[in-house]
Amino acid sequence: MNIHEYQAKSLLTKFGVAVPRGVPAFTVDEAEAAAKQLGGSIWVVKAQIHAGGRGKAGGVKIAKSLAEVRDYAKALLGMTLVTKQTGPQGRLVRRLYIEEGVDIRRELYLGLLVDRGTSRVTIIASTEGGTEIEEVAAKTPEKIIKVPVDPATGLMPHHARHVAYGLGLDGDQVKSCVKFVTAAWRAFNELDASIVEINPLVVTGKGDVIALDAKMNFDDNGLFRHPEVAALRDENEEDPAEIEAGKHGLNYIKLDGSIGCMVNGAGLAMATMDIIKLYGSSPANFLDVGGGATKERVTIAFKIILSDPNVKGILVNIFGGIMRCDIIAEGVVAAARELALKVPLVVRLEGTNVELGKKILAESGLKVLSADNLADAAEKIVRAVKEAA
Ligand code: ADP
Ligand code: MG
Repeated sequence: MNIHEYQAKSLLTKFGVAVPRGVPAFTVDEAEAAAKQLGGSIWVVKAQIHAGGRGKAGGVKIAKSLAEVRDYAKALLGMTLVTKQTGPQGRLVRRLYIEEGVDIRRELYLGLLVDRGTSRVTIIASTEGGTEIEEVAAKTPEKIIKVPVDPATGLMPHHARHVAYGLGLDGDQVKSCVKFVTAAWRAFNELDASIVEINPLVVTGKGDVIALDAKMNFDDNGLFRHPEVAALRDENEEDPAEIEAGKHGLNYIKLDGSIGCMVNGAGLAMATMDIIKLYGSSPANFLDVGGGATKERVTIAFKIILSDPNVKGILVNIFGGIMRCDIIAEGVVAAARELALKVPLVVRLEGTNVELGKKILAESGLKVLSADNLADAAEKIVRAVKEAA
């Protein structure tokens, strides 16, 4: 799960991470009140969406008067912000964060993430902050500092010092950075985060090391332990079909191809998506109905797949182990009837009661193409979609 910058900063502060003072705002009046409350003479009006790259896209504005705070708030609220990370459709701005203007001397990068290669939580740091870290890693990999942390010891002072020296800090800045890294580490661990990314981490005119931006992602499987984090979910930032699927215990991920895939099991989903690619098309989604799907859940799964206008055909690929193929067939037939299915449908069933399942499909009177194996199924759906276009 993702949260907004202002929420991440509020959580991180509780662990002692240094951030600028700021106040969230949902209206122009609230934005002005926030600036008054903060005081000072320079404020930054920041659009809050679950995507980075806001600065370059015009979503971060420096205001030098309360009137400017109002003007920027008015312009940003309700605006569709298109950044490098939002995709071309952009994101509607509904929340702002009003922050004190910071005197920036250096922009650095700090990230904590789970490195699957080493099975370690790893600290990533770079002197090249403010820019895209992926680009730094690709063009100048020597500018990336990686510090893997052994879970048996946890973060040790030398890890944090390694980061501080690698960032070229000295004197009190080292102390400030060590405190920062230690606090960010604690937040990462104690909140079951999967990413804490501070870009930029800045050195201020006074020599403090603080987080100018903050992004946090959480492991969904750990959320039940952190109701205060789960409460920060902003459904406006999520795909409505993914939310609906979650409510029914279905695993649905929207992708950008044209073939809807209904499968059971993540492994079968991967194989199905791969083979669709192999036959020259691409998947519109990944929908895993899981092990114990009922007729009703199959129907809901179908509705979710068809709610995506990009879906030009559906491939159902089910291996009936605990699940019986006749139940799947009944669900598919009921859903196709109820929804007056107009796009081509290919079904490949294997396993328990497969003959009965095939019989139900054949006798349904629906235009269902039956397939005998994975390759046959992929070839058939790709061809049917091409012919229907
Ligand atoms: P994004 O990563 O989405 O572009 P950031 O929060 O990193 O958004 O802000 C982009 C840039 O705006 C920063 O690199 C920094 O130069 C400037 N900025 C952001 N917040 C402040 C602030 N409080 N004071 C001064 N400058 C800021
Ligand atoms: Mg940033």
